Amino acid sequence: MTALTRLTMAAARDGLRRRNFTATELAAAHVAAVEAARPLNAFVTETPELAMAQAAESDRRLQRGEARPLEGLPLAIKDLFCTKDILTTASSHILDGFKPPYESTVTAQLWAAGAVMLGKTNMDEFAMGSSTTTSYYGPTENPWRRPGDNRPLVPGGSSGGSAAIVAACGALGATGTDTGGSIRQPASFTGIVGMKPTYGRCSRWGVVAFASSLDHPGPLTRTVRDAAMLLRGMAGHDPKDSTSAPVAVPDFEAALTGDIRGLKVGIPKEYRVDGMPGEIETLWQRGIEWLKTAGAHPVEISLPMTKYALPAYYIVAPAEASSNLARYDGVRFGLRVDGKSLEEMYELTRAAGFGAEVRRRVLIGTYVLSAGYYDAYYVKAQRVRTLIARDFAEAFKMVDCILTPTAPSSAFAIGEKSDDPIAMYLNDVFTVPADLAGIPAISVPAGLDESGLPLGLQIIGRAFDEETVFRVAGVLEEAASFTATPQFIAGASSSGGDIGSGHHEPH
Ligand code: GLN
Repeated sequence: MTALTRLTMAAARDGLRRRNFTATELAAAHVAAVEAARPLNAFVTETPELAMAQAAESDRRLQRGEARPLEGLPLAIKDLFCTKDILTTASSHILDGFKPPYESTVTAQLWAAGAVMLGKTNMDEFAMGSSTTTSYYGPTENPWRRPGDNRPLVPGGSSGGSAAIVAACGALGATGTDTGGSIRQPASFTGIVGMKPTYGRCSRWGVVAFASSLDHPGPLTRTVRDAAMLLRGMAGHDPKDSTSAPVAVPDFEAALTGDIRGLKVGIPKEYRVDGMPGEIETLWQRGIEWLKTAGAHPVEISLPMTKYALPAYYIVAPAEASSNLARYDGVRFGLRVDGKSLEEMYELTRAAGFGAEVRRRVLIGTYVLSAGYYDAYYVKAQRVRTLIARDFAEAFKMVDCILTPTAPSSAFAIGEKSDDPIAMYLNDVFTVPADLAGIPAISVPAGLDESGLPLGLQIIGRAFDEETVFRVAGVLEEAASFTATPQFIAGASSSGGDIGSGHHEPH
């Protein structure tokens, strides 16, 4: 049975169609793997009964020869996507008991394509973070550990539960969202593939809002082909989201030709940041060589506004968050702490319901939007954002895609950096620019660092040209031939899996 959880999504699709195994067997193997992975605390809610019922329906479809594109494939869903009648928390206390009366467009499309839901994954509260340690439900652990060092590591964030369960072979793929890096950075930290498509490619309808102009739903998978498959299922125009793009969804898998001859790959000199470990630079150089060997031409480019991306992001994102989070007032859904007046009820509910990082963002956002500071901070940050998009537009006149590292470090220990917001914000230095510009970017596992932890390389592309991004990512994946497995599953096959410090109770 275990072998079924090691399949790629594409291989599982083919195996189901050839009747090598049933959707029920595939779902049962994953339900068992999810249970075995409980020490990682990757889920807020598991939905095994639903998974088995959906798998039974998939088997009926497969029998009749009516298989849909993702028929019978077990997935995990970030707990930011509203799922009808199933607890949706955004990992926040303030959404206690919230069971949405509707389904997000992305998840509705996945179920309509035949996918099977294993449950809702843990994340940083309201997707604010880079470590999945700010969840009300406790931190998620990375299935990787440094050899010879038993300290639990973060899986990255905010889509850390999704990344951890895919890396631990508890799901074939997962949904995530990326506002400043939350798909790509956890993919890099857990040795998997994470794809942030173009803004507007995937509907945000029914996705709990963090920063609406920056929120991008996208897939986390173990291979580039699987990311192409899953993105196709998630993407498409949605009239219910006014920023959803009315463009056709290509067959992304068909883009994986392996042929990148003659393609120009930009290498931005501004991504050589101070204090970046030498081995990340080395890996980046190796990536350049791999693409060159495959016939592409590396071109040095300049993205001069890069150094302003993080400061601009940490004004725009909190500004939008402070506005989006105003709706959590104890009246309509989730937690309510009664007070002597309506106002006191609002205050007590919000004080009890939001964690420290969320409160910090609401304060920063309210400050930069306040009458006296609006022009100095918010308007200026928006101008910087336009200049960053212009940098990319200029670069794409000369190159077809851009290669960079995904993150400036590998996974760090749980608790490390938690008391230093600035150190935490630096995680996003290479991922934030593509969010500000709304352009597609993918992280591909490319190697291990000296401490034995995975590192990713990032490919950034033109708006709505996910196909080139996937094509180059496929070549990178092939050249890197990353086959290392995390200690959690390596240990599980020999000793039954002894890492993980137990299930975390809400605090
Ligand atoms: N780490 C970034 C932040 O904290 C990005 C989070 C995200 O992409 N959701 O805002």
